[in-house]
Amino acid sequence: MRSPSSPHVISASPPMKLLPKCDPNDDEGTMKLIEELTTNAAQVQRQVLDEILARNSNTEYLHGFLDGLTGYHFFKKKVPVIEYEHVREYIERIANGAPSSIICTQPITELLTSSGTSGGQPKMMPSTSEELDRKTFLYDLQVPVINKYVDGLDKGKGMYLMFVKPEIRTPSGLSARPVLTSYYKSSNFLNRHFNKHLIYTSPNETILCADSRQSMYSQLLCGLLQCDDVLRVGAVFSSAFLRAIKFLEDHWQELCSNIRAGEISEWITDSGSRRAVMQIMREPNAQLAERIEAECRKEPWEGIIRRLWPRTKYVDVIVTGSMAQYIPLLDFYSGGLPLVSTMYASSECYFGINLQPLSSPAEVSYTLIPNMAYFEFLPVKSDKRGEEEAFDADKCNRLEMAAEAVDLVDVEVGKFYELVVTTFTGLYRYRVGDILMVTGFHNSAPNFRFVHRRNIVLSVDTDKTNEEDLLLAITAAKPLLAPLGCLLSEYTSYADTSSIPGHYILFWELKSNNAATELDSAVMEACCLMVEESLDWVYRRCRSRDRSVGALEIRVVRAGAFDALMDLCLTNGSSVNQYKTPRCISSPEAIAVLDGRVVGRFFSRSAPQWEPLRVGKK
Ligand code: AMP
Repeated sequence: MRSPSSPHVISASPPMKLLPKCDPNDDEGTMKLIEELTTNAAQVQRQVLDEILARNSNTEYLHGFLDGLTGYHFFKKKVPVIEYEHVREYIERIANGAPSSIICTQPITELLTSSGTSGGQPKMMPSTSEELDRKTFLYDLQVPVINKYVDGLDKGKGMYLMFVKPEIRTPSGLSARPVLTSYYKSSNFLNRHFNKHLIYTSPNETILCADSRQSMYSQLLCGLLQCDDVLRVGAVFSSAFLRAIKFLEDHWQELCSNIRAGEISEWITDSGSRRAVMQIMREPNAQLAERIEAECRKEPWEGIIRRLWPRTKYVDVIVTGSMAQYIPLLDFYSGGLPLVSTMYASSECYFGINLQPLSSPAEVSYTLIPNMAYFEFLPVKSDKRGEEEAFDADKCNRLEMAAEAVDLVDVEVGKFYELVVTTFTGLYRYRVGDILMVTGFHNSAPNFRFVHRRNIVLSVDTDKTNEEDLLLAITAAKPLLAPLGCLLSEYTSYADTSSIPGHYILFWELKSNNAATELDSAVMEACCLMVEESLDWVYRRCRSRDRSVGALEIRVVRAGAFDALMDLCLTNGSSVNQYKTPRCISSPEAIAVLDGRVVGRFFSRSAPQWEPLRVGKK
């Protein structure tokens, strides 16, 4: 076993192109490329780092650490492992007009707003036009992989539901927008017709429609009109796909009446979408409308995907990480179709693909593709949520931490790591915050199971709420209890996704000064709303704009409920001395203990305030 800090033995084979040409219509050639990249993982990783340093070691950021030095050893020794707070200033300067070259010699062409937040606002990740090509490369790379396992996908279409979100301009004129919005608006995506595997039922105009309800309606209408062509269905995350099914439940009668009449509803005012849908609809089709109505009328909606789109071979949605909570609902609606998680990616950069796409959700691993970025891994001591001893940047010297970082090809099977990336776009040794477990290797490139995101306790859609956010939000709401003469003595939470949209549930145990406190609904509902108002921007966007998260609920439990929860945790092996109330529970047993002691349930009566992002100079 090599020690993590020892240099790799790099084979003497000629350097690979770091962004090779990939023809997604050439299955054999692309599979060969995957084999080459993963076989030469150590060499490719070193080339990636050398290239990033050759381009960028004189940027203001890197020069501050390397002082003109370059190369693997100096990088490892002198460049610290960082979190967003440590580069935020540079990114904000670029948003305000400083040259990209303070972090990256290639021009930064846009800022990608992440669902991870910092100080309540989305983090912004720099990106370049070359990076867009790198993303397209990864999308292309996965085409032959799925073709290897599923036949004939080029003989029909994909009903993929894709949406754009609002974007803003920074004072320097850069777009700041989510990574998928950027990709869907790019010519790489819009001119994909040459790629026979990317034939979708949704016309571009419906994907680019800024009004998410009109976009959803138009895309579902197109999907229904072409139902006999559909071979796969999907969305990026399972939460979005289930939202589409819920939308269909609410709108199938209207959709069918449009199909019967050969006319699209008047409330679809987006002219591009109207035109594109009408090109597909062309004429009234009473027969199709009846067929769809007959299926939608049958309750329950078990297997509705197979019934409406009978040739569907699989559902393409991410079901790993926080999305695993949706597997039972997906199984129900799809009638047991394979659920395929194809890719692991983020706003920072795209990481890897699933080379065994038909593996069951619990078995899914992603192979990190070595030319996407330079990857390092911080060892994590335990896999238990909240108990792992990942490095704490504030308590630990960031260079000491850096010394522990392990290279891609040196990770060990069965061990847990936190992912650290150095990108081509100006992030150096950046902690992504994801905890991964090594499940094996494909050639020399490791396969990782996504374990969880560091610190995150609640997530329903793209919202990611950590323990501290939750504590702060609850602390903001606590004073509202004063009129009841109560104090909040204990709390915990869980994300209830048994219905769509899911919502946050908080269990509160109150300590009352007088024996017979009445739970005043107005006060408790105000507490619900105050918690929501105090959660971060992404949560409030999901709740108020996207409606992908439902109203927050507080369940008040009677005195002693949290003692019963503690008893359960102790029975299940927690140590008495170290017992801390878990701030998030997920086991059905724990939820049942508290649910059995609920004395009042309250919901927010309105959605919290949300405003489009503002970036840059005030
Ligand atoms: P964002 O920066 O908003 O694009 O979110 C990226 C994050 O989403 C990643 O760092 C992961 O935490 C999560 N994520 C992305 N892809 C997957 C996946 N395939 N499985 C589980 N989590 C994922």
